[in-house]
Amino acid sequence: MKLPPFEYACPTKLSEAVALLAARNGDAKLIAGGQSLVPMLAFRLAAPALLVDLRKVPDLRKIDISTNGIVLGSMVRWCDVQADARLRTAHPLLRAAVAHVAHYQIRNRSTIGGSIAHADPAAEIPGIALTCEADIATVGTAGARVIKAADFFIGPLMTVLEPDEIIVEIRLPAWPAQRRWGFQEFARRRGDFAMAAAAVWYDQDDGGKARNAHVGAIGIGDRPQRLPAVEAVLNGRMIDEATIAQAEAAASAAVDPQTDIHASADYRRALVGTMVERALKSARHSTSEISDVGES
Ligand SMILES: Cc1cc2nc3c(=O)[nH]c(=O)nc-3n(C[C@H](O)[C@H](O)[C@H](O)COP(=O)(O)OP(=O)(O)OC[C@H]3O[C@@H](n4cnc5c(N)ncnc54)[C@H](O)[C@@H]3O)c2cc1C
Repeated sequence: MKLPPFEYACPTKLSEAVALLAARNGDAKLIAGGQSLVPMLAFRLAAPALLVDLRKVPDLRKIDISTNGIVLGSMVRWCDVQADARLRTAHPLLRAAVAHVAHYQIRNRSTIGGSIAHADPAAEIPGIALTCEADIATVGTAGARVIKAADFFIGPLMTVLEPDEIIVEIRLPAWPAQRRWGFQEFARRRGDFAMAAAAVWYDQDDGGKARNAHVGAIGIGDRPQRLPAVEAVLNGRMIDEATIAQAEAAASAAVDPQTDIHASADYRRALVGTMVERALKSARHSTSEISDVGES
């Protein structure tokens, strides 16, 4: 379908991009990779008068890794995450999740900032941001602010972003080499959005018991969800078969999915339990590194 008419601007400064958005008072939209926005325009789900392209704004494509953590510029694409060998050890969970995002061609254009701003409840990286307690740094006419991922997503395709606000960075806390992690997703076809997915990580005390467990579920509601009831099952316990079985049951009990055209609520509830179970089983054998086997 043809897109609705729009004006187009391609600023070379962040301040210029903010001013362009502010001048239209909600009737302008940023375009990053365009992989969600262009279909939205084609389906007339959005019809802004102006598109503000971020591709020439400097400093939005950086990937900084230090002992303080990882800073991803909002225009970092999925293929950039996959190409950066440092992230294999600096954030294996992020890399594992990105391998499930869409297909090669789409990963060459789509950006992490676009995905976070678009806030699809079945998208992998909003779930990773939530589970890893990411900070989302923005700039708008009211100035700069840093928003915790837990406060950022407020509903399907809804965030706390103001119309003149631009995501500039996604900041992930540092990832210790010994951390155990797992990411499991079920989708109808490889590269589809998740029907359900689970992201799991925990540290271990000297005796090997789990501590600091974080469990997130994706694709099971109107936004990604942390599962504190599952984390409570894991903390202070060996991650053995009995603990994993309890965690699986706790995960199914903790979510309240709706029946939709893809699956019934009961199916999704069972599926998220299975994803948590599989993620925990793979976490027991995880290393700090991930291979690229299986990426499409
Ligand atoms: C066929 C297909 C399959 C896909 N499968 C998956 C999948 O399995 N998993 C998944 O997670 N995603 C999937 N996607 C989505 C894709 O991976 C991108 O995450 C998504 O398109 C958004 O990134 P983008 O850079 O293209 O953003 P755009 O489409 O350019 O923008 C999306 C929205 O974000 C806003 N925006 C963009 N950048 C910023 C910014 N810096 N600050 C504030 N707002 C901003 C835009 O105004 C717009 O509202 C798929 C897309 C397609 C077309």
